[in-house]
Amino acid sequence: MELTVLGKYGPYPSKSTGCTSGYLVKNKGDLLVMDMGSGTLARLMALTDIREVRHIFISHLHYDHTSDLLPFRYLLEELNHSVNIYTHREDTAWYRLLFSHPAFKVTDIDENTEIKAGSMTLSFLPMEHAVRDYAIIVKGEKTLSYTGDAVYNDNVLKCLKISDTLLADCSKPEDFKGPHMTVRQARELGKNGGAKIIATHLSPDFDPSSEFKDFKNITVAEELKTYTI
Ligand SMILES: [Zn+2]
Repeated sequence: MELTVLGKYGPYPSKSTGCTSGYLVKNKGDLLVMDMGSGTLARLMALTDIREVRHIFISHLHYDHTSDLLPFRYLLEELNHSVNIYTHREDTAWYRLLFSHPAFKVTDIDENTEIKAGSMTLSFLPMEHAVRDYAIIVKGEKTLSYTGDAVYNDNVLKCLKISDTLLADCSKPEDFKGPHMTVRQARELGKNGGAKIIATHLSPDFDPSSEFKDFKNITVAEELKTYTI
C-alpha cells in the first residue's frame, strides 16, 4: 500500500513548487485521492491515467483542500468521465458550487459511514477544526489515517492507534495560534510509538524538519514522494 503526496502546503502554496493539500493512495492496483487543493490536478494527471481515478475523499471544505475540483470538472466533461466524491453535506454556497455538476456523484459521509473503494475500505472520524472535518481511515493491505485539518482531539490518538501510518496536520510552529496541530503536538503523538507519522499541511515559510530530529517515527511530508504504508 502506497501514499504519494501531491501537495503538502496550507493554507496557500509556497511560491516555488508547492501545491496545497492532496494525496494519492494505491492498494493492489486500486487508487483513490484524498483532498484536491490547488495545483494537485496537474500532478494527479502526471501520475495516473485520470480515467482510473474513480474515488475522491474530501476531509473538509476549505479552499486549500478542494479548489482543484473546479477545473477537474472541465477535464471530466472532456473525457465524458465521472467520479465518486465522498464528503459531508453542508448548506453553503461553496458546497453547492463545488458539487452541483453531473460529473460528480456525491455521497454524504459521517462517522457511521463505511465505503468500499476497490480493495480498500474507508471509514471516518470527526476531527476538531474551524469547520467540520473528518479524518479518513483507509484500510487496504495496511491502514493509513489522514486527519485532514485538525487541532488535537482524542480521535487523533485513536487514528494513530489503529494505523500503520498517520498522515497528520501537525507541522505548524510551536507558537502558532490557529486550528492546526503544532510540532509540539506532533512530538507528543510520536511518543506513543507504533504508527509512523507523516507531518503535513506545512506553512510555506516554516520547515519543521529539525523539530523532529529525535523522532525516528516522524517524517515531514515531501511533495511527489511515495511512501510505503
Ligand atoms: Zn482547513
